[in-house]
Amino acid sequence: RPVIDDLSNFWMPFTANRQFKAAPRLLESAKGMYYRSTDGREILDACAGLWCVNAGHCRDEIVAAVQQQLATLDFAPTFQMGHPLAFEAASKVAEIMPEGLDRIFFTNSGSESVDTALKIALAYHRARGEAQRTRLIGRERGYHGVGFGGISVGGISPNRKTFSGSLLGNVDHLPHTHDLEHNAYSKGQPAWGAHLADELERIVTLHDASTIAAVIVEPVAGSTGVLIPPQGYLQKLREICTKHGILLIFDEVITGFGRLGKATASEYFGVTPDLITMAKAINNAAIPMGAVAAHRNVHDTVVNSGAPGAIELFHGYTYSAHPAATAAAIATLDLYRKEALFERAHGLAPAFEAAAHALRGAPHVKDVRNLGLVAGIELESRDGAPGARAYEAFVKCFEAGVLVRYTGDILAFSPPLIVDEEQIGRIFGTVKDVLASVK
Ligand code: PMP
Repeated sequence: RPVIDDLSNFWMPFTANRQFKAAPRLLESAKGMYYRSTDGREILDACAGLWCVNAGHCRDEIVAAVQQQLATLDFAPTFQMGHPLAFEAASKVAEIMPEGLDRIFFTNSGSESVDTALKIALAYHRARGEAQRTRLIGRERGYHGVGFGGISVGGISPNRKTFSGSLLGNVDHLPHTHDLEHNAYSKGQPAWGAHLADELERIVTLHDASTIAAVIVEPVAGSTGVLIPPQGYLQKLREICTKHGILLIFDEVITGFGRLGKATASEYFGVTPDLITMAKAINNAAIPMGAVAAHRNVHDTVVNSGAPGAIELFHGYTYSAHPAATAAAIATLDLYRKEALFERAHGLAPAFEAAAHALRGAPHVKDVRNLGLVAGIELESRDGAPGARAYEAFVKCFEAGVLVRYTGDILAFSPPLIVDEEQIGRIFGTVKDVLASVK
């Protein structure tokens, strides 16, 4: 085998960069809750890979479905034809979406799902003869992938800065409630109240509501540190969008498929958007796949319009509804149901919450946030080196046999939904031990 030094010249992992080259962490195999590294160590996966392997790793049913599919029909052209599994997978996804969101479009990733949803929203308004609705609204601290659409509506300013001048121009960003709340706290006001609703209304109408096509939010922001919406916030957002004829998009790439103990965050919060973006756990990450669920009114308007000035939406990926990906999705959705994994996540949430919150007061811990089976532990920033402390904790946890995720100063946790209480205890116990030795 080539040694890692040779390999690392060819594989271009932009986001892993120098840290990876200095100390490569290579995973060779996986089963259930565990990874095995190339040096033969067993690692408890507290992240479901990257928020995606919700049914646990290398599940026999999914592996068999993919193997069989690849041996039967490896590929079917996307345009002008299809294959039965695409329809079956779509109907199974639609089954667990909120009422009305039963038109499913398949993509290959979360980033593509976001681009797709934004395009559907824009095409919808045009089909209704409202071509002036071109403005898109995202949120600061929002993460919507790495496509140009997702970066444009995303709230990660270094990403936007790198490509400034070449992103979508007609975009605004709501302040994230995490910051508004923080400001409200510091002014001694209640965390959530009329002032926050006013702020939303002000921004949504800033440019004349009739020019706004869509608002996109992660119901719970994941990659930017597990940020939980204040009570009533998503409902209020829904009301404001409905009032102004603006489409609401929930990016559920992380929150979908049981992460919060329900099929979707939409179900968890009791708020129905017009479009939902998904990926990751849709097929347990066995084969790259994403999807968009559109409300049937939105879909039917785009497809059946006939309004003056309406255009067809030309949109499709070569691998949309790839046979192997759809086979994996069907097997995965069957597993979720057969093993009642969403309900399992719901049942485990109190133990998960208690274990996460037991870290309050541990060295460097600034905040603990959680919902369902997702948690974030925010660490105090090390002077002059933001993120360094969380990185050190991540490395030490990995050495101690637990895979956690770090993002900025935050450690994030999103175990497969098959996790048990003993493993939950081990995850947070390891983090606690590690934090005692972090500088
Ligand atoms: N949206 C959200 C909310 C995400 O968390 C992610 C990925 N973490 C994406 C979009 C992008 O997904 P992908 O990496 O599959 O393109």
